[in-house]
Amino acid sequence: MIIAIDGPAGAGKSTVAQRLARRLGLRYLDTGAMYRALTLRALREHIDLDDEERLASVAADMEVGMEHVSRRRPPYRVFMDGEDITSAIRSREVSAHVSQVSSHPLVRSEMVNKQRRMAAGGGVVVEGRDVGTVVFPRADVKFFITASVKERARRRHREMAKDGHDVSLHTIQQEMVRRDYLDTTRQYNPLKRAPDALLIDTTGENVSQVVGRLSSLVKERAAREAR
Ligand code: C5P
Repeated sequence: MIIAIDGPAGAGKSTVAQRLARRLGLRYLDTGAMYRALTLRALREHIDLDDEERLASVAADMEVGMEHVSRRRPPYRVFMDGEDITSAIRSREVSAHVSQVSSHPLVRSEMVNKQRRMAAGGGVVVEGRDVGTVVFPRADVKFFITASVKERARRRHREMAKDGHDVSLHTIQQEMVRRDYLDTTRQYNPLKRAPDALLIDTTGENVSQVVGRLSSLVKERAAREAR
């Protein structure tokens, strides 16, 4: 089974996708972390973020993986060429440049190939921006998770404050609106809801409620298909 979860920044996709994967005994693949890893690498190596060919070749050579380590927080760790980059890829600098890096068609096709290889064999919850539309258009269940921009900014602000970042709610909201704009208007594989994706608005709902709702929908779908 492949469960595809797409949606804008801060909608709660990661938390929900991770919990859903644990609850259903499936693997978890965070495609945003892969674009973030490439962006981190490009910033560290001073690669021109408009040099599409160079970025695509770095993407092709790069080893990115995700592992669940229950004693760590957060438990899903992201590795790039053996280095744990889980917190490095969440920096504001990476967030500010990732949409530019991920707008290049050659970069996206490298990433899409990697993502399909990583999800081979199924049994996985995959989250991102184009998972239900491009990467797995025939996914068994598709969700498009969203929430009001105010709520998304508030959640991200709370998360960042917990990690010790002192940024105003206003700035976070502005950065989020900018990233949504870039992600939804890019020419190649923009963020959009697949026609067959179930729309889940999480405004005013907590994580357990959302995970419960999604898990019931997945089970309903599986039962229907088994009939
Ligand atoms: O989900 P997350 O916020 O970590 O994603 C970071 C960025 O990676 C997005 O803003 C988007 O630019 C890019 N992305 C993408 N396609 C995906 C996943 C993420 O373009 N499937």
